[in-house]
Amino acid sequence: MNRAYRKTIIAGNWKMNKTPAETRALINELRPLIQRTKWCETVVCVPFVDLPNALKASRGCRISVGAQNLHFEPSGAFTGEVSAEMLSSLGIKYVIIGHSERRQYFGDTNEIVNKKVLAASAAGLRPILCVGESLTEREYDVTREVITTQLKMALQGIDAAAMKKIVIAYEPIWAIGTGKTATADQAQEICNLIRAFVRAKYGARVARAVSILYGGSMKGSNAAELLSKPDVDGGLIGGASLKAEDFAEIVHAANQ
Ligand code: PEP
Repeated sequence: MNRAYRKTIIAGNWKMNKTPAETRALINELRPLIQRTKWCETVVCVPFVDLPNALKASRGCRISVGAQNLHFEPSGAFTGEVSAEMLSSLGIKYVIIGHSERRQYFGDTNEIVNKKVLAASAAGLRPILCVGESLTEREYDVTREVITTQLKMALQGIDAAAMKKIVIAYEPIWAIGTGKTATADQAQEICNLIRAFVRAKYGARVARAVSILYGGSMKGSNAAELLSKPDVDGGLIGGASLKAEDFAEIVHAANQ
């Protein structure tokens, strides 16, 4: 983390969990636990149907609300989809784009991810852009190339002003939901590569300001070490974001 230049962010990705009533309950449980954490922005990315309750329950506290996906078209015959403007009109601040589960199960290619980043940015949403390599790619030693390609494609057509609002999450696929965490040095290496990419494309000032998160089995017991690295500015948290106490422990580690 480097708070002199950029925000520390801990974002929960609830995935397909929690009903609207459970959303209200979990946020109400979380609120008092993270009261004195002014150095860290806490975000909960919830299912679409939970967004109104998440917004209501988080009113007046330090929790921001995000969605987990969007469609890149502004409107039209796309049954079951939700547009960027629909989200921004609700008052949503963040949206996760390019999560590996969307890439794996729902066909989100780098090109689609790019269209979604453009649509979200144009609507004033802050994308949390996920990139990450598979285990095979790591074993074949092509991690750096994979991440660079994902960034190159996802950020095509994004200017410096839009880039300043984008959060990038490095999520090695082999670490998501597996209990296996990247070592702090592995996370730092790739978060540093990401910042170098942003620097080369947008300049040092933008690169310094961009928050880069690590995601992949982050929990209370390993958060402090991961977050001690200079280019790791926070975390994207799956499993551990579903229990208020577990999530709050990570937020406190990030607030140190
Ligand atoms: C995620 O879904 O983005 C994630 C990092 O999950 P987990 O923390 O459960 O590995």
